[in-house]
Amino acid sequence: MCRKLPAYQDNVSARPRRKFLGGRLQRFKMASLVFFVHITTLISHSYHRTNIHAIKTSWIHLKRIMSELKTSWLQQVRTGVLLTALTILLFICPENSVYGATKTDGALRGDLILRNGEIHTMNEGGEVSSVIGIKEGIVVYVGESETEALDKFKVIPSIIDLQGHLAIPGLIDCHNHIVLLGNRPGYHTPLENAYSVADVQNTYSLRASNVHEGSFITTIGGFHPNQFSERRLPTLEELDEAVPNNPAFVSYSFAGPATTNSLGKAFFESSADPPAISANGSITSGLNNGKALLALRKQLTFADRKRGVHDAMAYAVSVGVTTHLDQGAFPATGTPADGAANEDLYAMHLPWLSVYDEEGGIIRLRINFLHMDDNIEVPTVQQRLLNTFKLFGNDMVRTGGIGEFITTDYAGGPFFTAAAQRIAAAGWRLEVHSLTGTDFQTQIQTYESINANNSVEDLRWVVAHVPQITPEYLQRLKRLGGGVNLSGWQYLAGTGPQAGPPFKDILTSGIPAGIGADGMQIAPLNPWIHAYYATTGKNALGQQINPGQQISRQELLHLYTRANQWFLGGKDEQLLGSLEVGRLGDVVVLNDDYFTVPEEQLKELRSILTVVGGKIVHDDGSLAA
Ligand SMILES: [Zn+2]
Ligand SMILES: [Zn+2]
Repeated sequence: MCRKLPAYQDNVSARPRRKFLGGRLQRFKMASLVFFVHITTLISHSYHRTNIHAIKTSWIHLKRIMSELKTSWLQQVRTGVLLTALTILLFICPENSVYGATKTDGALRGDLILRNGEIHTMNEGGEVSSVIGIKEGIVVYVGESETEALDKFKVIPSIIDLQGHLAIPGLIDCHNHIVLLGNRPGYHTPLENAYSVADVQNTYSLRASNVHEGSFITTIGGFHPNQFSERRLPTLEELDEAVPNNPAFVSYSFAGPATTNSLGKAFFESSADPPAISANGSITSGLNNGKALLALRKQLTFADRKRGVHDAMAYAVSVGVTTHLDQGAFPATGTPADGAANEDLYAMHLPWLSVYDEEGGIIRLRINFLHMDDNIEVPTVQQRLLNTFKLFGNDMVRTGGIGEFITTDYAGGPFFTAAAQRIAAAGWRLEVHSLTGTDFQTQIQTYESINANNSVEDLRWVVAHVPQITPEYLQRLKRLGGGVNLSGWQYLAGTGPQAGPPFKDILTSGIPAGIGADGMQIAPLNPWIHAYYATTGKNALGQQINPGQQISRQELLHLYTRANQWFLGGKDEQLLGSLEVGRLGDVVVLNDDYFTVPEEQLKELRSILTVVGGKIVHDDGSLAA
């Protein structure tokens, strides 16, 4: 029979001993901490000669600490030497110190001056400057004088002449699925910027020249054959011509259709559960596309995923998107039912985190958590709220809220209500997906019913996409403190008469609104395609499908920068989205004048130089000339 431990007696017997040890140890620890703070202040202020009063105060406190240690003078001197040595050690080894934590947490912290640019700061006054200084990753100067910028540095930093090019803050995409992009099987190759089968062939051929023979070259989502002048996918022969030594798989939307080449066909047909593939390489959408995708995913290693993360980051900075709020994936089943948007919800971030930990990331990743609970207990949402920190991380990677799904009855059924109630009670941000003419209504009604008992007005609850939202529901969501994020995904395959979203009505409503490309499956990541759609209303076929809802280029840039601060929330609101002193130094220099190029050329805009935290993370060489 077990004897119950005498917890009370144990505590009593332990108490005097703990007090004896704890008393001196505690005093020493406290003294060390206070000593550290004061010696740091003393050294810092003496070094910079900034605050004589602080120097005097610190010295007085240091003397008091030493005397309060109640030891002999010899011991005090020994302790002083020890603490001073520790302090110096902490200074020279900042990666191990509390003091240095914010500077060595994997964040990019470069020193750089950009001069002779047309720098649209996107600050409150909409100022345009020609010089920006970034020190240790933070903007320290914005203005017109290179000399004044240099005054902010002790050591002369790199100085780059922008040769009059237009520069903007690093773009924020407040809703996409870039984590999925990093986890794609094969050497994923974006086709969102191809306009013909010949473009596809050239893009694939270029990719093949940079990978090993035999490596699978893939494109899974993010484009549509409507973009191509032929309005069709490339054939087996055309892909063979482009990449004769590499298997290829080109699939669009969530579940195909797809096409492959001879080497790809041979691979799929020898797989455990082969898809049906026609003689010209085409693979039908749904089951056959799913079988091909599953065969590819079975080959995928953790190292492959990390390589995919690097590729995803490199592509993002080449088009100027430096901050991404990822909105998750649908849970994977490990069967051919899985489409482009399915992944392991609990493992898909690991290759990303591994890259940030071990090799360093070059984009800022923000993570929302997608859930698909299918019962009233909403177990996964419940566990998420109990076990995850919201808005936790560093400048490079940070958690966000819940979204863009919480339950299978996503439009506002009983599971949805139960999950949203728990999210409100926990004080978390929530984002849900709306595509139909009614789902936003039932979702906003549910938000209102929850708000009646548990205010969500400070939680920034969002309804995403909203192609059909009405002025009435915009006002109702606005009253709840909510916001909407918009995407130009209708560009790829949308049709009229009014494809939405109603950009203009939304901006007129005054509700917090931002832009999230929703890139990776049904939409491109490239922000300049979304800029084209939002400002022209035209789809990939050149048809007007969103009449009367166009916004200006300035308004669109505002959505992609300053307006998206609201969607990031937390610390990010003071760090990103505009170029101002004290904010993170993320800058994109464009190849052409965004404000004046003809509308078709909007789609051709690219970054020639992308800076994240004062470090150059993309440089196409244009400025070297
Ligand atoms: Zn969505
Ligand atoms: Zn989405």
